[in-house]
Amino acid sequence: ASLTELKWSKAPCRFCGTGCSIMVATKAGRVVASHGDAKAEVNRGLNCVKGYFLSKIMYGSDRLTQPLMRKTDGVYDKNGNFEPVSWDEAFDTMAAKWKETLAKKGPQGIGMFGSGQWTVFEGYAGVKLMKAGFRSNNIDPNARHCMASAVVGFMRTFGIDEPMGCYDDFEAADAFVLWGSNMAEMHPILWTRIADRRFSHPHVQVAVLSTFKHRSFDLADIPAIFTPQTDMVILNYIANHIIQAGAVNKEFVAKHVNFRLGATDIGYGLRDENPLQMEAANPNSGASEPMTFEDFAEFVAPYTLEKAEEMSGVPAATLEKIAALYADPDTKVMSLWTMGVNQHTRGVWVNNMIYNIHLLTGKISTPGNSPFSLTGQPSACGTAREVGTFSHRLPADLVVTNPEHRAHAEDIWKVPPGTVPDWVGAHAVEQNRQLKDGKINCYWVQVNNNMQAAPNIMEEGLPGYRNPENFIVVSDAYPTVTAEAADLILPAAMWVEKEGAYGNAERRTQFWHQLVNAPGESKSDLWQLMEFSKRFTTDEVWPSELLDSSPEFKGKTLFEVLFENGKVDAFPLEQTAEDYANHESEAYGFYVQKGLFEEYAEFGRGHGHDLAPFDRYHEERGLRWPVVDGKETLWRFKEGSDPYVSAGADFEFYGHKDGKARIFALPYEAPPEVPDEEYPFWLSTGRVLEHWHSGSMTQRVPELHKAIPDALVYMHPDDATALGVRRGSEVKLSSRRGFILSRIETRGRNKPPQGLVFVPWFDARQLINKVTLDATDPLSKQTDFKKCAVKIEPV
Ligand code: SF4
Repeated sequence: ASLTELKWSKAPCRFCGTGCSIMVATKAGRVVASHGDAKAEVNRGLNCVKGYFLSKIMYGSDRLTQPLMRKTDGVYDKNGNFEPVSWDEAFDTMAAKWKETLAKKGPQGIGMFGSGQWTVFEGYAGVKLMKAGFRSNNIDPNARHCMASAVVGFMRTFGIDEPMGCYDDFEAADAFVLWGSNMAEMHPILWTRIADRRFSHPHVQVAVLSTFKHRSFDLADIPAIFTPQTDMVILNYIANHIIQAGAVNKEFVAKHVNFRLGATDIGYGLRDENPLQMEAANPNSGASEPMTFEDFAEFVAPYTLEKAEEMSGVPAATLEKIAALYADPDTKVMSLWTMGVNQHTRGVWVNNMIYNIHLLTGKISTPGNSPFSLTGQPSACGTAREVGTFSHRLPADLVVTNPEHRAHAEDIWKVPPGTVPDWVGAHAVEQNRQLKDGKINCYWVQVNNNMQAAPNIMEEGLPGYRNPENFIVVSDAYPTVTAEAADLILPAAMWVEKEGAYGNAERRTQFWHQLVNAPGESKSDLWQLMEFSKRFTTDEVWPSELLDSSPEFKGKTLFEVLFENGKVDAFPLEQTAEDYANHESEAYGFYVQKGLFEEYAEFGRGHGHDLAPFDRYHEERGLRWPVVDGKETLWRFKEGSDPYVSAGADFEFYGHKDGKARIFALPYEAPPEVPDEEYPFWLSTGRVLEHWHSGSMTQRVPELHKAIPDALVYMHPDDATALGVRRGSEVKLSSRRGFILSRIETRGRNKPPQGLVFVPWFDARQLINKVTLDATDPLSKQTDFKKCAVKIEPV
């Protein structure tokens, strides 16, 4: 292209799990504009304000362009200042630290933290390097803070991960019920589809349930503010109402559902309270026992309308209206949720409880009848979940604790039997604790800002990063608080500076080409993983038993074993089009991304996770898996739509061997910390429309920064008056763990009820996660960022 000509190419948005397709304009080696892709089914030409400013996220003035290591007098020193180093020095220092730790502590001594912002290729390469190369399962994604409860919820109810429905449900549903989700800000383009449906079809109703009022309430026909944690009571009341009203779809339930008593697991995962080994290691995690429909009816019977009103604070008439949406056989219902349900000390149970009411009524897997778990990250599904970046997982829902699954992975990866370890690695919160305790000594963070995102960071996060025994590496595009806490910072290429693939919330896999070069010496995470792997030979990292039984691997580098062998080599670099002009694979002489993708796809083909051939994704605006005989799947588990359902079965929940879904009897359980005299307010944290998560990219876009520069304390005006403060007053917000200084907002977009405050977490200058509680769901190990007890004092 000439220096003045605009070249337009497609790419999925860098930000949220909605997965909008964006048209990206480049000129003279720079991204200069972007707009929503009119050809895309997901967003139909629209994008939200973050998507609108995508062209600016790569050009912040403090973009990292070379590796930086802490040094004093020219040598590495944990207490030194950051100094520029070459990639060779960076990797050599890293490799020496890794080798020292592996020799001293074995694979348990190293760890990696990734994310659903990794491309599919990068996440897959990270899993392969850690689990097969270093033989360590200490790798986890920040999806642990985001989607882990949804994953375990799917595995328990359906035996297979990810939603059965798709975005086409938005145009078919008669009612939308938001469980703790603020889609108007967090999934704004999907919200436009709900708004379209609501305004063009007057019979459509929108119910919004939350612990505070937010922008999604603007569209609510049925608004409901409930006391934190009592979503569990409301869901059991709705199940009870469906049964009492005779609205159970008896034929569906008899054919397609089993009932289980699922409340036999206890404990919150607070430090020292739960052993490291996760129940989540088992795909059907959480002990449960069979029960009958009658037993289930008896179990939920105490959850009466009166009890639900009393505990939740939601008026009985409102509760009845919500229950009626589910109970009416002629109303097609889409339930939607994200962090309000998942970031919950009983997040797995709440996921299960939502499926319960859809299964009781048979409102599932058909257009408009859709329990839909939304995702936060752009590739929470496609990368974090599907390629197996969780510490207990392998690709395509396989788990490290199952010997057959490990053998299958070793076979596809062409590594010796016994390479993949059987122990469940440390999950995200546990990784921070093990860094603090000096159990993990070498740690690599990619596409993540965990010192802003993790809970209770002053007590459970930062101490591990600054532990003198530890060597912390952070790959990022900008100097985040996490990078600044590290020993070595590696500059990362971002978004269209590399070739990529993301998978969105409706199982849609989308590809993009590398469109521009990364600045300075920045390199993609994939390049970094592969180059690092060249520094290790199998003799240095594998035990002699393994090499004695497979001597052909002796002396090979991990790069040769993991990235250059077999399938990968079979795909030569295609340099026929301009699209490949900047292709990172040039350096390798083979098409790395294609080889990795085709190898990864082997895990899922024929197992319900079928992906199309690599090249097709570069042509399409994404395809929803399973893609069988070239055709994507819109509704899983339904005959005629899902190719895996047997002829004549009507519905088949084939994730479980008996082909049936599970309804779980689960009780209300109190939260681990509640307001008291000393800390009288609930704190809920969350995001804002204008900023992507920790703000490391969007705070560098002047328009987005100016739109919402600071995280404020959203508070009810009467609470402010009682405290003697008002809008704009400076306050100290503290919990038993830490405090922040911020200002009061009583008129903003979030309107909490009395007794609750909301603070967003995008602002690095006011780290609200110094305050939050690190209690996790005992099954998923996901943290509850939505409730803890705080006090507020004027300063
Ligand atoms: Fe679409 Fe989400 Fe990107 Fe906004 S942030 S344009 S809703 S993918």
